[in-house]
Amino acid sequence: MTSQLKPKPTRALITGGAGFIGSHLAGHLLSLGQRVQIIDDLSTGAMANIEHLKDRPAFKYCIADVRDEPLLAELVDNAEVVYHLAAAVGVRLIVESPVKTIETNVGCTEVVLKLANKKRKKVIIASTSEVYGKNELVPFAEDHDLVLGPTVKARWAYACSKAIDEFLALAYHRARKLPVVVVRLFNTVGPGQTGRYGMVLPTFVRQALSGEPITVFGDGNQSRCFSEVGEVVTALAALAAAPAAEGQVVNVGSRQEISIKELAKLVKKLAGSRSPIKLVPYEQAYAEGFEDMPRRVPDVSKLQSLVGFTPQMGIAEIVQSVIRHYRES
Ligand code: UDP
Repeated sequence: MTSQLKPKPTRALITGGAGFIGSHLAGHLLSLGQRVQIIDDLSTGAMANIEHLKDRPAFKYCIADVRDEPLLAELVDNAEVVYHLAAAVGVRLIVESPVKTIETNVGCTEVVLKLANKKRKKVIIASTSEVYGKNELVPFAEDHDLVLGPTVKARWAYACSKAIDEFLALAYHRARKLPVVVVRLFNTVGPGQTGRYGMVLPTFVRQALSGEPITVFGDGNQSRCFSEVGEVVTALAALAAAPAAEGQVVNVGSRQEISIKELAKLVKKLAGSRSPIKLVPYEQAYAEGFEDMPRRVPDVSKLQSLVGFTPQMGIAEIVQSVIRHYRES
Protein backbone atom coordinates (compact mmCIF):
# COMPACT_ATOMS: atom_id res chain seq x y z
CA MET A 1 0.00 0.00 0.00
CA THR A 2 1.06 3.58 -0.44
CA SER A 3 1.76 5.67 2.59
CA GLN A 4 2.34 9.36 3.10
CA LEU A 5 4.78 8.51 5.86
CA LYS A 6 8.50 8.92 5.89
CA PRO A 7 10.21 5.56 6.51
CA LYS A 8 11.84 6.80 9.74
CA PRO A 9 9.31 8.72 11.82
CA THR A 10 10.79 11.35 14.08
CA ARG A 11 7.76 12.34 16.17
CA ALA A 12 6.18 9.53 18.12
CA LEU A 13 3.14 9.37 20.37
CA ILE A 14 3.08 6.51 22.87
CA THR A 15 -0.18 5.70 24.64
CA GLY A 16 0.59 3.93 27.90
CA GLY A 17 4.01 5.59 27.78
CA ALA A 18 4.50 5.55 31.56
CA GLY A 19 4.04 1.79 31.65
CA PHE A 20 6.81 -0.76 31.73
CA ILE A 21 7.16 -1.33 27.97
CA GLY A 22 6.00 2.18 26.99
CA SER A 23 8.63 3.92 29.10
CA HIS A 24 11.40 1.71 27.71
CA LEU A 25 10.12 2.47 24.20
CA ALA A 26 10.18 6.20 24.97
CA GLY A 27 13.81 5.93 26.09
CA HIS A 28 14.74 3.97 22.99
CA LEU A 29 13.08 6.39 20.55
CA LEU A 30 14.76 9.34 22.27
CA SER A 31 18.10 7.57 21.88
CA LEU A 32 17.35 7.35 18.14
CA GLY A 33 16.93 11.13 18.07
CA GLN A 34 13.13 11.08 17.86
CA ARG A 35 10.74 13.43 19.65
CA VAL A 36 8.45 11.56 22.00
CA GLN A 37 5.09 12.48 23.49
CA ILE A 38 3.45 10.06 25.87
CA ILE A 39 -0.06 9.85 27.30
CA ASP A 40 -0.84 7.71 30.33
CA ASP A 41 -3.58 7.74 32.97
CA LEU A 42 -1.23 6.12 35.52
CA SER A 43 -3.74 3.32 36.17
CA THR A 44 -0.92 0.78 35.95
CA GLY A 45 1.87 3.05 34.71
CA ALA A 46 3.92 5.15 37.12
CA MET A 47 5.70 8.51 37.11
CA ALA A 48 8.76 6.68 38.44
CA ASN A 49 9.08 4.94 35.05
CA ILE A 50 9.55 8.26 33.23
CA GLU A 51 11.33 10.25 35.94
CA HIS A 52 14.68 9.91 34.12
CA LEU A 53 13.14 11.20 30.86
CA LYS A 54 11.28 14.23 32.17
CA ASP A 55 14.14 16.68 31.70
CA ARG A 56 14.87 15.65 28.13
CA PRO A 57 13.84 18.49 25.77
CA ALA A 58 12.54 16.01 23.17
CA PHE A 59 10.24 14.34 25.71
CA LYS A 60 6.75 15.44 26.70
CA TYR A 61 4.21 13.72 28.90
CA CYS A 62 0.53 14.11 29.50
CA ILE A 63 -1.38 12.42 32.32
CA ALA A 64 -4.83 11.73 30.91
CA ASP A 65 -7.17 9.06 29.63
CA VAL A 66 -6.69 8.07 25.99
CA ARG A 67 -10.48 8.34 25.61
CA ASP A 68 -10.26 12.12 26.11
CA GLU A 69 -10.88 12.61 22.39
CA PRO A 70 -10.17 16.35 21.92
CA LEU A 71 -6.87 15.93 23.76
CA LEU A 72 -5.88 12.78 21.91
CA ALA A 73 -6.78 14.37 18.57
CA GLU A 74 -4.24 17.12 19.22
CA LEU A 75 -1.54 14.64 20.25
CA VAL A 76 -2.18 12.45 17.21
CA ASP A 77 -2.01 15.56 15.03
CA ASN A 78 1.47 16.35 16.31
CA ALA A 79 2.82 12.83 15.79
CA GLU A 80 3.96 10.92 12.73
CA VAL A 81 3.43 7.51 14.28
CA VAL A 82 1.30 6.32 17.20
CA TYR A 83 2.39 3.39 19.35
CA HIS A 84 -0.77 2.25 21.10
CA LEU A 85 0.31 0.45 24.26
CA ALA A 86 -2.34 1.69 26.71
CA ALA A 87 -4.24 -1.36 27.95
CA ALA A 88 -5.31 -3.29 31.01
CA VAL A 89 -2.41 -5.68 31.58
CA GLY A 90 -1.50 -8.51 33.90
CA VAL A 91 -3.49 -11.66 34.50
CA ARG A 92 -4.29 -10.71 38.10
CA LEU A 93 -5.72 -7.32 37.10
CA ILE A 94 -7.73 -8.91 34.34
CA VAL A 95 -9.29 -11.52 36.59
CA GLU A 96 -9.99 -8.95 39.31
CA SER A 97 -11.25 -6.10 37.08
CA PRO A 98 -13.07 -7.72 34.16
CA VAL A 99 -15.27 -4.71 33.24
CA LYS A 100 -12.32 -2.31 33.21
CA THR A 101 -10.28 -4.74 31.10
CA ILE A 102 -12.83 -4.97 28.33
CA GLU A 103 -13.80 -1.30 28.38
CA THR A 104 -10.20 -0.09 28.40
CA ASN A 105 -8.85 -2.47 25.81
CA VAL A 106 -11.64 -2.07 23.30
CA GLY A 107 -12.57 1.58 24.03
CA CYS A 108 -9.04 3.01 23.85
CA THR A 109 -8.17 1.21 20.63
CA GLU A 110 -11.40 2.40 18.98
CA VAL A 111 -10.53 6.02 19.76
CA VAL A 112 -6.88 5.69 18.72
CA LEU A 113 -7.74 4.10 15.38
CA LYS A 114 -10.56 6.53 14.66
CA LEU A 115 -8.35 9.58 15.25
CA ALA A 116 -5.30 8.11 13.51
CA ASN A 117 -7.49 7.40 10.51
CA LYS A 118 -8.85 10.93 10.51
CA LYS A 119 -5.32 12.34 10.53
CA ARG A 120 -3.84 9.54 8.36
CA LYS A 121 -1.17 8.55 10.88
CA LYS A 122 0.57 5.21 11.18
CA VAL A 123 -0.42 3.12 14.19
CA ILE A 124 1.43 0.29 15.94
CA ILE A 125 -1.14 -1.70 17.91
CA ALA A 126 0.25 -3.70 20.83
CA SER A 127 -1.56 -7.01 21.08
CA THR A 128 -0.60 -10.07 23.07
CA SER A 129 0.35 -13.72 22.78
CA GLU A 130 -2.70 -14.36 25.01
CA VAL A 131 -4.75 -14.33 21.82
CA TYR A 132 -3.36 -17.77 20.89
CA GLY A 133 -5.11 -19.03 24.01
CA LYS A 134 -5.03 -22.76 24.59
CA ASN A 135 -3.65 -23.65 21.18
CA GLU A 136 -1.04 -26.35 21.73
CA LEU A 137 0.42 -26.17 18.24
CA VAL A 138 3.70 -24.48 19.17
CA PRO A 139 5.45 -22.48 17.89
CA PHE A 140 2.55 -20.08 17.34
CA ALA A 141 2.53 -18.51 13.88
CA GLU A 142 0.50 -15.40 13.18
CA ASP A 143 -2.02 -17.22 10.98
CA HIS A 144 -2.73 -20.00 13.50
CA ASP A 145 -6.19 -20.46 14.97
CA LEU A 146 -6.98 -18.73 18.24
CA VAL A 147 -8.25 -21.28 20.78
CA LEU A 148 -10.03 -19.49 23.58
CA GLY A 149 -11.94 -20.76 26.59
CA PRO A 150 -15.57 -20.08 27.52
CA THR A 151 -16.91 -16.63 28.35
CA VAL A 152 -17.65 -17.67 31.94
CA LYS A 153 -13.90 -17.75 32.57
CA ALA A 154 -12.71 -14.17 33.02
CA ARG A 155 -9.19 -14.76 31.78
CA TRP A 156 -10.35 -15.12 28.19
CA ALA A 157 -11.86 -11.64 28.19
CA TYR A 158 -8.35 -10.26 27.85
CA ALA A 159 -7.54 -12.35 24.77
CA CYS A 160 -10.94 -11.60 23.25
CA SER A 161 -10.64 -7.85 23.85
CA LYS A 162 -7.22 -7.83 22.21
CA ALA A 163 -8.48 -9.95 19.31
CA ILE A 164 -11.20 -7.33 18.72
CA ASP A 165 -8.47 -4.66 18.71
CA GLU A 166 -6.63 -6.68 16.08
CA PHE A 167 -9.75 -7.14 13.93
CA LEU A 168 -10.48 -3.42 14.12
CA ALA A 169 -6.92 -2.41 13.20
CA LEU A 170 -6.82 -4.82 10.27
CA ALA A 171 -10.26 -3.60 9.15
CA TYR A 172 -9.00 0.00 9.09
CA HIS A 173 -6.07 -1.18 7.03
CA ARG A 174 -8.19 -3.16 4.58
CA ALA A 175 -11.14 -0.79 4.25
CA ARG A 176 -9.53 2.62 4.79
CA LYS A 177 -5.90 1.93 3.83
CA LEU A 178 -4.68 3.07 7.24
CA PRO A 179 -1.03 2.02 7.81
CA VAL A 180 -1.22 -0.23 10.87
CA VAL A 181 1.04 -2.90 12.33
CA VAL A 182 -0.30 -5.35 14.93
CA VAL A 183 2.38 -6.72 17.23
CA ARG A 184 1.71 -9.74 19.41
CA LEU A 185 3.97 -9.35 22.40
CA PHE A 186 5.09 -12.51 24.18
CA ASN A 187 6.22 -12.46 27.81
CA THR A 188 8.31 -9.33 28.07
CA VAL A 189 10.45 -8.75 31.14
CA GLY A 190 13.28 -6.56 32.35
CA PRO A 191 14.32 -3.82 34.73
CA GLY A 192 11.47 -1.73 36.09
CA GLN A 193 8.66 -4.25 35.66
CA THR A 194 6.38 -4.45 38.67
CA GLY A 195 5.03 -7.70 40.09
CA ARG A 196 1.93 -5.88 41.35
CA TYR A 197 -0.23 -7.12 38.51
CA GLY A 198 0.85 -10.73 38.80
CA MET A 199 3.78 -10.93 36.39
CA VAL A 200 5.96 -13.85 37.28
CA LEU A 201 9.58 -12.68 37.01
CA PRO A 202 9.41 -9.51 39.13
CA THR A 203 7.34 -11.48 41.66
CA PHE A 204 9.94 -14.26 41.89
CA VAL A 205 12.82 -11.78 42.17
CA ARG A 206 11.11 -9.84 44.96
CA GLN A 207 10.30 -13.06 46.80
CA ALA A 208 13.83 -14.43 46.40
CA LEU A 209 15.50 -11.23 47.60
CA SER A 210 13.23 -10.87 50.62
CA GLY A 211 13.53 -14.51 51.64
CA GLU A 212 9.82 -15.20 51.12
CA PRO A 213 8.65 -18.45 49.48
CA ILE A 214 8.84 -18.35 45.67
CA THR A 215 5.27 -19.08 44.59
CA VAL A 216 5.06 -21.39 41.58
CA PHE A 217 1.45 -21.75 40.42
CA GLY A 218 0.13 -25.16 39.39
CA ASP A 219 2.81 -27.84 38.98
CA GLY A 220 5.28 -25.39 37.43
CA ASN A 221 5.62 -27.42 34.23
CA GLN A 222 3.90 -24.70 32.19
CA SER A 223 6.46 -22.87 30.10
CA ARG A 224 7.01 -19.44 28.62
CA CYS A 225 9.59 -17.68 26.44
CA PHE A 226 10.82 -14.47 28.07
CA SER A 227 12.27 -11.64 26.06
CA GLU A 228 14.11 -8.60 27.32
CA VAL A 229 12.23 -5.31 27.11
CA GLY A 230 15.15 -3.43 25.50
CA GLU A 231 15.17 -5.90 22.61
CA VAL A 232 11.38 -5.82 22.34
CA VAL A 233 11.20 -2.03 22.02
CA THR A 234 14.00 -2.11 19.43
CA ALA A 235 11.81 -4.50 17.43
CA LEU A 236 8.76 -2.21 17.81
CA ALA A 237 10.66 0.82 16.49
CA ALA A 238 12.08 -1.23 13.61
CA LEU A 239 8.61 -2.51 12.69
CA ALA A 240 7.27 1.05 12.72
CA ALA A 241 9.94 2.00 10.20
CA ALA A 242 9.38 -1.04 7.95
CA PRO A 243 6.84 -0.33 5.17
CA ALA A 244 6.51 -4.09 4.54
CA ALA A 245 5.11 -4.54 8.06
CA GLU A 246 2.02 -2.43 7.32
CA GLY A 247 -1.18 -4.46 7.43
CA GLN A 248 0.64 -7.35 9.14
CA VAL A 249 0.31 -9.15 12.45
CA VAL A 250 3.78 -9.85 13.84
CA ASN A 251 4.90 -11.96 16.80
CA VAL A 252 7.53 -10.27 18.95
CA GLY A 253 9.22 -12.60 21.39
CA SER A 254 12.07 -14.94 22.11
CA ARG A 255 12.35 -18.63 21.15
CA GLN A 256 14.05 -19.67 24.41
CA GLU A 257 11.55 -21.67 26.41
CA ILE A 258 11.74 -22.29 30.16
CA SER A 259 9.30 -23.91 32.57
CA ILE A 260 8.09 -21.79 35.47
CA LYS A 261 9.58 -24.31 37.91
CA GLU A 262 12.99 -23.96 36.23
CA LEU A 263 12.61 -20.19 36.26
CA ALA A 264 12.00 -20.27 40.02
CA LYS A 265 15.17 -22.35 40.51
CA LEU A 266 17.18 -20.00 38.31
CA VAL A 267 16.01 -16.89 40.17
CA LYS A 268 16.76 -18.54 43.50
CA LYS A 269 20.26 -19.52 42.38
CA LEU A 270 21.20 -16.19 40.78
CA ALA A 271 19.84 -14.21 43.75
CA GLY A 272 21.77 -16.45 46.17
CA SER A 273 18.46 -16.87 47.98
CA ARG A 274 17.40 -19.36 50.63
CA SER A 275 13.71 -18.92 49.80
CA PRO A 276 11.80 -22.20 49.53
CA ILE A 277 10.03 -22.88 46.23
CA LYS A 278 6.34 -23.40 47.02
CA LEU A 279 3.75 -24.90 44.68
CA VAL A 280 0.44 -22.99 44.90
CA PRO A 281 -2.72 -24.47 43.33
CA TYR A 282 -4.22 -22.27 40.62
CA GLU A 283 -7.56 -22.01 42.49
CA GLN A 284 -5.69 -20.42 45.37
CA ALA A 285 -3.58 -18.13 43.17
CA TYR A 286 -6.34 -16.79 40.95
CA ALA A 287 -9.92 -18.06 41.14
CA GLU A 288 -11.88 -21.27 40.89
CA GLY A 289 -11.73 -22.72 37.38
CA PHE A 290 -8.72 -20.66 36.25
CA GLU A 291 -7.14 -21.97 33.07
CA ASP A 292 -3.47 -21.53 32.29
CA MET A 293 -1.60 -22.13 29.04
CA PRO A 294 0.74 -25.09 29.17
CA ARG A 295 3.19 -23.68 26.61
CA ARG A 296 3.63 -20.42 24.77
CA VAL A 297 6.34 -20.25 22.11
CA PRO A 298 6.39 -17.78 19.21
CA ASP A 299 7.27 -18.42 15.61
CA VAL A 300 9.45 -15.37 14.98
CA SER A 301 10.30 -15.95 11.33
CA LYS A 302 8.08 -13.07 10.19
CA LEU A 303 9.75 -10.64 12.60
CA GLN A 304 13.16 -11.86 11.43
CA SER A 305 12.30 -11.38 7.77
CA LEU A 306 10.78 -7.92 8.32
CA VAL A 307 13.41 -6.31 10.53
CA GLY A 308 16.39 -8.69 10.40
CA PHE A 309 16.58 -9.65 14.05
CA THR A 310 14.73 -11.31 16.93
CA PRO A 311 15.20 -11.00 20.71
CA GLN A 312 18.23 -13.08 21.68
CA MET A 313 19.19 -12.26 25.26
CA GLY A 314 19.44 -15.42 27.36
CA ILE A 315 17.18 -15.91 30.36
CA ALA A 316 20.06 -16.04 32.88
CA GLU A 317 21.35 -12.67 31.70
CA ILE A 318 17.84 -11.21 31.84
CA VAL A 319 17.22 -12.54 35.37
CA GLN A 320 20.58 -11.14 36.48
CA SER A 321 19.75 -7.69 35.16
CA VAL A 322 16.36 -7.72 36.90
CA ILE A 323 17.98 -8.77 40.20
CA ARG A 324 20.61 -6.03 39.84
CA HIS A 325 17.97 -3.41 39.13
CA TYR A 326 15.83 -4.55 42.05
CA ARG A 327 18.81 -4.37 44.44
CA GLU A 328 19.71 -0.88 43.24
CA SER A 329 16.22 0.58 43.45
N1 UDP B 1 3.11 -17.54 37.83
C1 UDP B 1 3.61 -18.21 38.93
N2 UDP B 1 3.79 -17.51 40.10
C2 UDP B 1 3.53 -16.17 40.20
C3 UDP B 1 3.04 -15.49 39.05
C4 UDP B 1 2.83 -16.20 37.88
O1 UDP B 1 3.88 -19.42 38.89
O2 UDP B 1 3.73 -15.59 41.28
C5 UDP B 1 2.93 -18.30 36.57
C6 UDP B 1 1.60 -18.10 35.86
O3 UDP B 1 0.61 -18.96 36.37
C7 UDP B 1 1.96 -18.42 34.42
C8 UDP B 1 3.41 -17.92 34.31
O4 UDP B 1 3.90 -17.84 35.65
O5 UDP B 1 1.92 -19.81 34.18
C9 UDP B 1 3.54 -16.57 33.63
O6 UDP B 1 2.68 -15.67 34.30
P1 UDP B 1 2.57 -14.13 33.95
O7 UDP B 1 1.40 -13.60 34.69
O8 UDP B 1 3.89 -13.47 34.15
O9 UDP B 1 2.30 -14.10 32.37
P2 UDP B 1 1.25 -14.91 31.45
O10 UDP B 1 2.13 -15.76 30.60
O11 UDP B 1 0.33 -15.70 32.30
O12 UDP B 1 0.58 -13.85 30.68
